[in-house]
Amino acid sequence: MTQAPAADLSTRLIHHDYTPPAGFEAPQPPVHKASTVIFPNVSALRAREWKDKSSYTYGLHGTPTTYQLEERLATLEGGLQCLLVPSGLAAIATVSLALLRQGDEVLIPDNAYGPNKALAEVELRHYGIAHRIYDPLDPADLAAKITDATKLVWLEAPGSVTLEFPDLPEQVRICRARGVTSVLDNTWGAGLAFAPFDLMGDGQLGADISVHALTKYPSGGGDVLMGSITTRDEALHLRIKLTHMRLGLGVGANDVEAVLRSLPSMALRYHAHDLAARELARWMGTQAPIAQVLHPALPGSPGHDHWQALCGGAQGGQGAAAGLFSVVIDARHSQEQVDAFCDGLRLFKIGYSWGGPMSLVVPYDLASMRARATPQLKPGTVVRFSIGLEAVQDLRQDLAQAMERAFA
Ligand SMILES: *Cc1c(COP(=O)(O)O)cnc(C)c1O
Repeated sequence: MTQAPAADLSTRLIHHDYTPPAGFEAPQPPVHKASTVIFPNVSALRAREWKDKSSYTYGLHGTPTTYQLEERLATLEGGLQCLLVPSGLAAIATVSLALLRQGDEVLIPDNAYGPNKALAEVELRHYGIAHRIYDPLDPADLAAKITDATKLVWLEAPGSVTLEFPDLPEQVRICRARGVTSVLDNTWGAGLAFAPFDLMGDGQLGADISVHALTKYPSGGGDVLMGSITTRDEALHLRIKLTHMRLGLGVGANDVEAVLRSLPSMALRYHAHDLAARELARWMGTQAPIAQVLHPALPGSPGHDHWQALCGGAQGGQGAAAGLFSVVIDARHSQEQVDAFCDGLRLFKIGYSWGGPMSLVVPYDLASMRARATPQLKPGTVVRFSIGLEAVQDLRQDLAQAMERAFA
C-alpha cells in the first residue's frame, strides 16, 4: 500500500507505507521474530550492511517489524531516522553514552526527568563526564552554563512533575548558536503537541535529537516498556546507532507489535486525556486545600505563555497538552494529611508512569529533587496526577471524597 497524500498526522500514521505479501492485502504488519537471519552465501554474509536498513544481519539489530515501528515513529516526530530501545530511560542513557566522552560536560534542566539526573550524577561521573544543572525558565542561565566542554544539552518541555514550560525555541537557538547538540525528551509532547524538529513551523528550527518514552502514550496500555531515539541528521544518527549496536540494545517483537497496534489511536487518546486533565486541573484550582495548580495550558501556570506560543495552535486552536497535572497542597496541611489524601483515593492508583487507561497519583518531596530554589512554586507538597480514560465526573468525585476526608 502506498502512502496516502494526506497531511494530518493521525491519517498518515494509519496509512503508513507497508507492502503486504502478494495476495494478502491486510493493512496490519506481521510480527517477525528472529535472532539468526540466514544469508544465501558467504559473500552475502561478508557484504552485510549494519549501518542502514538496506539489509538484515541479526535480529538484535533489526527485523521488518522493528523497522516498521521505527519508520512510523520517525513520521510521528518529523524525523528521518529512529532507533528503538527497551525503555525511555534506555533512550536517555544511549544518547548520553553515545555523545559524551571523558572530560565533556552535559547540561540538564533542574526539572528534568529524575533518572536522567541520577544517570549523570552517578554513572556519567564514573566515566569522567561532568554535568551542570540549569534553570529551565531562564535561557540566560542556559547560555551562561555552556562552556567549551559542553557537548550535549538536555531539554524537556515541560519539566517532569512540576510541568514548567520553557522557552524551547529560544533554548534550541542558544544551543545552535553555540554549536552544542541538543536533545529533547519529547515524552510529554509525544509528537502531537508540537513538532520537535520544526518548532516554528518554517522547517528551520528544531532539536537535534528527540527521545520518547513509548511506554507512555504510544503504548497507551500501561503494559509495554520501550523508548525511541529520533534524529534528522544522518551522521548524528550513525554515531548513536553504533553505540546502540555495541551496547546490545534490542526490543521484543511482541512489544513492538503492541505499540504498532496502539499508534493509530494515539492522537485520539492524547486528546481525550488532555480534555479530562484540563477539566480536572481547573476544578482542583477552585478547591480550598490547593495552593497552586501546575498545568502548562492553564493561565498562571509557570511557562504558560511558552506553552501557548508552541502548542496553542494545535487541535484547531484549543492547544494540545498531555493528560498530566500537579497540584501544590497548601503548606498548612501536614505530610500525613497529604499521604491520607493519596491513600484515600479509590479510582486513582498510587504508582509511577502515565499514558495508560488508569488514573495515577504520586506525592513528591520536591526539596530532595531540586538543585536550585523554585520561586515559581508556592510552598506546600507537590502531588502529580496522571489522568487516564475513566469518566471525568467519577474522577472528580473521587478527588472530592478524598480531599473531604483528608483535609477536613
Ligand atoms: C517515563 C519517562 C521516561 C522513562 O521512560 P521508561 O520507559 O519508564 O524508562 C523518560 N522521560 C520522561 C519525561 C518520562 O515521563
